[in-house]
Amino acid sequence: MNLDRRQISHELHVHLYGCLTPQDVWELGRDLWRQRHERLNAYAERYEGAFGIRPDFESYWADELGLANIARDFLCTTPSSFEQFETKFSLPIALFPVSHARDDLQVLRHVMERHRSQGLVHVEYRFVYPPATPLTLGYSLKQHLDGLCQVMAEFKAESCGIFESRLALSLSRVPDLGMRQYLAVKAWQEASPAELKCFLSAIDFSGYEETTAAEGIYQICGRLHADNARAPGDALALLIHAGETTETIPVSEGIRRVEMAARMGAHRIGHAVALGADCDDETRAMQGRVGRWIADETKSVIECCITSNMVLAGVRDLLAHPVKRFVAEGLRVCLATDDPGIFGIDSKSEYAKAVQVLGPEEALRIIDATPNYHSDVLSGRA
Ligand SMILES: [Zn+2]
Repeated sequence: MNLDRRQISHELHVHLYGCLTPQDVWELGRDLWRQRHERLNAYAERYEGAFGIRPDFESYWADELGLANIARDFLCTTPSSFEQFETKFSLPIALFPVSHARDDLQVLRHVMERHRSQGLVHVEYRFVYPPATPLTLGYSLKQHLDGLCQVMAEFKAESCGIFESRLALSLSRVPDLGMRQYLAVKAWQEASPAELKCFLSAIDFSGYEETTAAEGIYQICGRLHADNARAPGDALALLIHAGETTETIPVSEGIRRVEMAARMGAHRIGHAVALGADCDDETRAMQGRVGRWIADETKSVIECCITSNMVLAGVRDLLAHPVKRFVAEGLRVCLATDDPGIFGIDSKSEYAKAVQVLGPEEALRIIDATPNYHSDVLSGRA
C-alpha cells in the first residue's frame, strides 16, 4: 500500500472531467470521437471564439502527433480567463456527454484507477446534475446517480479498503432550478438503498459565479440544513465555490460572496481567493474582519487549490497565494487540485507547491487534518 504522506492523499475538491489528462482524452476518445463529430464541431467553434484559432480535432486521433495536439489545445497552464478554461473543459464534455451511452461511467472508472495507483485514498468527485439535452431525453436522475454510485461501490469492493470515493453533485446556481434539482436528489436518497446512496455525500455549487447573486441559493441551503438535522443518515455536505474569480467584480464583492457562503452554512468553501487577494487598505480590513469571523464563529473549511488559483484566479505567483495568510489567521484549510488533468498537475506536484508556500511542517499538518473535513464528517452523517 502506498502511504506517501508527501502528497494530497485525501482529495476533497476535484471535478471528474477535470481529472482527465490529455492521455486519458486520447485513450478514451479514440474509439468514439467519430460519433461525437457534431459536438466536437461545436467545441471547435467555441474554441475559435475564445482563442482565435480553430482546433483541428480530427488530428487528435489521426497519427502519432495526435496526443501532442490534444495536450497543446487542452492543457491550461498559464493565466487564463474563466471562459478560456471552460472552453478547454468543453472538449471532454463534447466527447463524453451525459447520455444513455454512459461514457461518464467509463471516465469515472478510468480516473479512479489512476488515483488509486497514485496513492490517493479518499477522493470526492464533483459531477454534474444531468443537463437537459436531446441526448438525455428519458434519462433520469435515478439512472444517473444509480450508475455513478454503482461504479463507486464496485470499485470500493475491488480496492480492498485502500481507496474510497464519494460523489458531490453540482447543482445549478439558478434558484428555482437549483431547488428543483435539490429536491429530486433528496427524493432519490429516500428511494435508494443505503449501500448505494452512501456514495453521494455532498452537493456543490460551482461554475462561473460572477453572473449570479450569491444569496440566490439561500433557500436551498436552509432546506439542506433542515433536512440534515431531520435525517442525519442522509445528510449532505454543502460545498460552495465562492470568491474564486474577480474578473468583473471588485475584490470586496468576492469577499462578500465568501462571507455569504459561510453565512449559508457552507461546510467547505471552494477557493475564497478574494479573502486574500491584493487590494487597497479598506478592502484589506474587510478581508481581516471576514476571515476572523469565519475562523472564530463558523466551521467552514476553505479548499485551497494553489495551481488552479494561479491559472484562473489572478494569484500572481506561488508565494503570493493566500493559503499562507489563511493558515496564519486560523482558518481551517485543505489542499486540493480542482482540475488536475487540465492543469497538468497531480497530488504530488501540488503538495510540493504547498511546501514551497507553507513550509514542510505546515503542509504536513494540513494533510494530516484533511480526513476531518470529509463531507461525511462535516455533514454529521459519519
Ligand atoms: Zn472547482
